[in-house]
Amino acid sequence: MPLFLEEHRQLLSFNYPGRGDLVEALESVAGFLEDKVMPMATKFDQHAAKIEETRKELLRQGVCQMPFPKELEGLGLPFGAYALAIELTGAADAGIALSIAIHNTAAEGILQFGSEGQKRKYVPDIVAGRKVASFALTEPTSGSDAKAMGTKAARDGEGFVLNGSKAFITNAGEADVYFVFAATPKGPSSFIVEGSNPGLSFGEDLPKLGMRGSRTSEVRFSDCRVPAESLVGEEGMGFEYAKKMLNGSRIVMGSLCVGIAQAAFEKSIEYARSRKAFGSAISEFQLIREKVADMKTGITAGRLLCLHAARVRESGADFGSEAAQAKVFSTEMSLRVCDSAIQVFGGYGYTTDDVHRHWRDARLLTIGEGTSEVLRMLIARRELARSL
Ligand SMILES: Cc1cc2nc3c(=O)[nH]c(=O)nc-3n(C[C@H](O)[C@H](O)[C@H](O)COP(=O)(O)OP(=O)(O)OC[C@H]3O[C@@H](n4cnc5c(N)ncnc54)[C@H](O)[C@@H]3O)c2cc1C
Repeated sequence: MPLFLEEHRQLLSFNYPGRGDLVEALESVAGFLEDKVMPMATKFDQHAAKIEETRKELLRQGVCQMPFPKELEGLGLPFGAYALAIELTGAADAGIALSIAIHNTAAEGILQFGSEGQKRKYVPDIVAGRKVASFALTEPTSGSDAKAMGTKAARDGEGFVLNGSKAFITNAGEADVYFVFAATPKGPSSFIVEGSNPGLSFGEDLPKLGMRGSRTSEVRFSDCRVPAESLVGEEGMGFEYAKKMLNGSRIVMGSLCVGIAQAAFEKSIEYARSRKAFGSAISEFQLIREKVADMKTGITAGRLLCLHAARVRESGADFGSEAAQAKVFSTEMSLRVCDSAIQVFGGYGYTTDDVHRHWRDARLLTIGEGTSEVLRMLIARRELARSL
């Protein structure tokens, strides 16, 4: 299954005319994914092959560098091209796509809110894939209500001491750099904690329904001392930073789900053409054709919503609502498409890992990075506050 499609090429030429470099960058990512990731995806899902090296190799293929400035070893490409690269990665292996998207969210936080010293020290290594990064906000007792975090950072001489724990953290235990949120007397604040810090420890890799190409575990802070220069931005501003970081990340999670849906769709088309029932291919039946039409329409709509949100982001305007719309629609669309794919495959859909893993992978993303319920509240709040 080729990952880079004619519709990707068209979207790039409509939105970024004359940018053949974007086509080249995406074709190169697609080539790597087709050679190295897609053939292994079912094995990664079944924990039947080691994934760490492939994940690290992908980090070095330029995907993470795409939206970052050239002076920090980025490629300086538009966010929309990066979102499409994550879509392609999601079609190949959604767990790997999740892992690298969260890695980039941490780099984005350092780029947007960090000091010049922090940017120079961490961003080039993260985006070029020499270091792995992680974003640690959720706690065992605070998810959607992230501001209610219990992890505390207390002043200690020149630095801070962190105590508490974070739950469900992607890349935990593998990352070299953690972008961490902890409560201080001025409110939630953000810190960079290095993976080698002796005050850090990690839980077991959690067994998951899907997204098995990513590692997820608890991160514990036990008298975890960090120097004053680990504080990112202003003390007490951490929650505002988290919200801004999550906005960009939500576009990418939407794109990831478009990729998952595209993969399930392609497999459904191939199967529907070859599976015979009542003397013909099942693709000849109207009720199967209705599914094909609805799957395709949903994928196109999701892809356009994500690209639209990316374009608003690139314009410098506030894009929180567009990002939330793109994520809510694309994640829910992806679940419907993957469910239809299982239906098209009949009993083989229910029993074949390579078909039902797409539904299992997509299932995370109406929960992670802002649940559908919370994002609908955000979209409605902005619309209702708008002057008519
Ligand atoms: C595989 C995986 C990877 C993850 N990776 C990361 C990561 O890298 N970093 C990180 O920080 N977190 C990560 N998370 C955590 C994820 O972001 C949270 O699970 C998510 O934000 C939801 O929080 P929660 O699970 O505590 O659910 P809760 O917030 O407890 O929500 C439970 C239910 O209540 C609903 N609800 C809550 N408040 C309201 C309301 N006001 N109105 C209506 N309904 C409401 C929710 O929508 C949901 O349906 C990950 C989670 C998983 C499973």
